[in-house]
Amino acid sequence: TEQTLGRLAEESWSRFDDHDSMYYEGVWHRSHTLAERARRMCGGFTEAGIRPGDRVAVMMANSPEVPIVYQALWAAGAVVTPVVFLMGPEELRHVLLDSGAAAVVTSPELAGTVRAANVDLPVHVDTRELERAAERDPVARDPDDLAALLYTGGTTGRAKGVMLSHHGLWHVAKDAFELSHQEGRNRALVPVPLTHSYGLIVTIASLHASEPQQAVLTRWFDPREFLRLAAEQHVHYGTVVPSMIHSLLAEPLEEHPLPDLAYLTCGAAPLGRRTLEEFERRMPGVQILEGYGLTETSAVTTFNPPGRRRVGSVGLPLAGYTITIRDSDGEEVEPGDVGEICVSGDSLMLGYWGEREPDPDGTALVGKELRTGDIGCMDDDGYLYIVDRKKDLIIRGGFNVFPRDVEDALDRHPDVVVSGVVGRPDPRLGEEVVAFVQLRRDATVTAEELIEWARERVGRVKYPREVRFVDSVPLTSVLKLDRRALRGMLG
Ligand code: ATP
Repeated sequence: TEQTLGRLAEESWSRFDDHDSMYYEGVWHRSHTLAERARRMCGGFTEAGIRPGDRVAVMMANSPEVPIVYQALWAAGAVVTPVVFLMGPEELRHVLLDSGAAAVVTSPELAGTVRAANVDLPVHVDTRELERAAERDPVARDPDDLAALLYTGGTTGRAKGVMLSHHGLWHVAKDAFELSHQEGRNRALVPVPLTHSYGLIVTIASLHASEPQQAVLTRWFDPREFLRLAAEQHVHYGTVVPSMIHSLLAEPLEEHPLPDLAYLTCGAAPLGRRTLEEFERRMPGVQILEGYGLTETSAVTTFNPPGRRRVGSVGLPLAGYTITIRDSDGEEVEPGDVGEICVSGDSLMLGYWGEREPDPDGTALVGKELRTGDIGCMDDDGYLYIVDRKKDLIIRGGFNVFPRDVEDALDRHPDVVVSGVVGRPDPRLGEEVVAFVQLRRDATVTAEELIEWARERVGRVKYPREVRFVDSVPLTSVLKLDRRALRGMLG
């Protein structure tokens, strides 16, 4: 039967006997206690004037309170608007005004950012206060009603609101859970922000299981804390993004055997093949399972199932999604040919919030199909491979240069941690290829050597004419390579 998220959470938390459900800062939280707190908090939001359909921004660091707040808001009929904790006051102001939020829920350490956003709204810092109310049952909602309004990372422009329904979020979470779940492996380490679409889906996914699931949450990501907790709490899998793998590789992994850890799900940004291989070599027994998705598809569109993964690919489409690769005229291409990745299926977003100027190179809904703005291809067995983003394409003297090809070549150099490649405006060629490179601490390679290394691998057109060393590459609020910042650094 069709579900709404308020009821789904309510049922799942009471379906099993009371059990340890979430671990956080030294304490296991019991499932029935979490359910009761959510019911009270639902009463608290209702008493505070939150009505069905109201958008409520949730800007919190990870803790068991986040899923409680989500459940309470869904039960009250409200629309959750999660905000990643790294967002600055100006971006937050845009989100609060654009969404027409009725209130903000935050944690004490982020209250300063909320204040600095300078929007006149009720702010709930102490969520315990909301739990003083009487318990309340979920209000009726329709599966097609709006459940969440998420703002895309804004990697390529001003953040826009993506409207996700109860139906869409529920189905994606269920399909993703079914593709990834392994019997008996029920304990996850979750360092990704629960206020990003990835973390949101992780939160909902655990509600589908036929056996109780357990989450070990960390407030922020810290590589040492990650390794310590994975060992101490015997976690079976973890949910990460590529920049976390980069940080883990800088640790002495060999000193941290993790015999219970079977796999890491990884997505949200490109993960180099060399990075994957190095990690698995240094962490034997752990597989990295890559997935791909967008906020518009509720975070997950494809995933590599355990036992059936293909390294270098982002996996197979979820049951509810169909992927079509189209050329620039919109025609479907042959398997193996490169084109724009387009997604359809009834779990897709309802649309963008408010009036939007169409963005020719960006992500757009065309009829019932999502043009992702990502370039890729599909093999004969339906595995998807990402080449790059349309809007990141560098056109040098009329030739197309995909920055990821150049980054992959640079990242294969043993002295390189990670690189970021952008186009610098050039009067003669249109654009010139420039690489920003973060080196290992003990690196000895020179810029000239790296330029030569890249030239031997990507050829004469694409190799970077300039390599600049940086202490760390800039990342966005969801920890992706920030190409806008890189372009700004070109001077
Ligand atoms: P904006 O759309 O405003 O530029 P954003 O890119 O941060 O912001 P998201 O919806 O968070 O928006 O990210 C979706 C994008 O992330 C995809 O379109 C794709 O480019 C990239 N992505 C996600 N997973 C992967 C992956 N496994 N490999 C490569 N790229 C990925």
